[in-house]
Amino acid sequence: MPAKFQPKTGARPSAGGSCKSPVAQTCSSGAGQPARPGLFSSNDKRASAQRAGRDSRPHLVHGPSVTGRIMSNLRPGENTTQYELRLAQRMSRLGTETAFEVLNQARALEKLGKKVVHLEIGEPDFDTPPNVVEAGIHALRKGWTHYGPSAGLPELRQAIADDVSRSRGVRVSNDEVVVVPGGKPIIFFTLLALADVSDEIIFPNPGFPIYESMIDYVGARAVSIRLREEKDFGFDVDELASLITDRTRLIILNSPQNPTGGVLNKQDIQDIAAVIGDRNIMVLSDEIYSRLVFDGEHYSIMSVPGMQERTILLDGFSKTYAMTGWRIGYGVMRADLATHITRLMTNSNSCTASFTQVAGIEAICGDQSSVDHMRAEFRRRRDAFVAGLNRIKGFSCRMPRGAFYVFPNITKTGWKSKKLADALLEEAGVACLSGASFGRFGEGYLRFSVANSLGNLNLALERIDGWTKRNL
Ligand code: PMP
Repeated sequence: MPAKFQPKTGARPSAGGSCKSPVAQTCSSGAGQPARPGLFSSNDKRASAQRAGRDSRPHLVHGPSVTGRIMSNLRPGENTTQYELRLAQRMSRLGTETAFEVLNQARALEKLGKKVVHLEIGEPDFDTPPNVVEAGIHALRKGWTHYGPSAGLPELRQAIADDVSRSRGVRVSNDEVVVVPGGKPIIFFTLLALADVSDEIIFPNPGFPIYESMIDYVGARAVSIRLREEKDFGFDVDELASLITDRTRLIILNSPQNPTGGVLNKQDIQDIAAVIGDRNIMVLSDEIYSRLVFDGEHYSIMSVPGMQERTILLDGFSKTYAMTGWRIGYGVMRADLATHITRLMTNSNSCTASFTQVAGIEAICGDQSSVDHMRAEFRRRRDAFVAGLNRIKGFSCRMPRGAFYVFPNITKTGWKSKKLADALLEEAGVACLSGASFGRFGEGYLRFSVANSLGNLNLALERIDGWTKRNL
């Protein structure tokens, strides 16, 4: 059995050489990201299934349902149903991630022949390192196609425990690790496991929209802590102190941060821990971008003496190893909580895909040069893009210290964020996200992902500059 986990040696990437740059790949539209398999909308899938004669579902004519009500969000001619869809009440509280919606809008424009530069989606534009791909293929061939333990393969849990012990300077054992399909499930499971109705959860705003969506969904109270541009998108610890009440159950931290690229340094983290003091409040520390810090070192609240027991660390493979589509991430937490999160895994997913986990072992234990290469490349692009944005009328942009996002202030354009993002997509062919889609304190900003080639980033700058000259 252990032989199956031997890191393969033949296909290791050489430093900087094997992480393919998107520049070398073919673009789907000339200006956008490279064409990748599987990135099409469900409509595309449906259409191709129909072409291939595989979709045999009846296509009912749009019209009144048996209850007499019109299915209002279906367009005429679209497939419709006979019975009114009666959703659970809680679904009205579920939010979404705008990046996927803007991606669909951009793809619709591309179908009409428009060339779009994609700076909306938050995933590395690099391929998964070849040694990791090989490990996944090898695992499939060796029969890693069955269910595995809900908490993850013991060998992977151990590799993660060792890695986190080393990188965060703490002692973690494998029963404190739960492997899940991506980083997102740790957010959901943590809230399901810890938050009762009307418990208060403090979360960063602007922040990853899934936090607020999930807090609302489980019926807890979402309490925003405002990230401040003048603090390099950190927050005021006195403000944090003023938000903590007897009902506070959980504080969500995210560093490096989506969408601002802000990084909480060691002092910030220690100040936050001091404010929490000895209260029985848990911290969900989302460190999915931990390996993408450009200036200084990543520091985790788990490393603060006394905080390990109250920290759930979220990290994963999506960003660090360009493995977004493999769906693998993990949480590190006290062992008693890990058993409950594992129960949620048993109930929802059974386990994370077994061959994906074998590839995950290679990702953690194998050659790390691809991570360094990606970080250096993102840094180069960040430098160029921020400098370019700061030359554009109405834009002013801080230098983000981590992740692969830049978050310019656009208040001097006189435009609202959403309107400007829509105009840039439709009139300039640049897809980005409105800061307001990351919470109300994101109004006045746009988010650009620099996960695209330098050539395309420069093209985007030219287009935005041209648009502002014509419109401001
Ligand atoms: N946390 C943050 C802050 C993120 O930006 C993302 C992905 N955009 C995730 C978690 C989820 O990562 P995954 O794709 O591994 O579920």
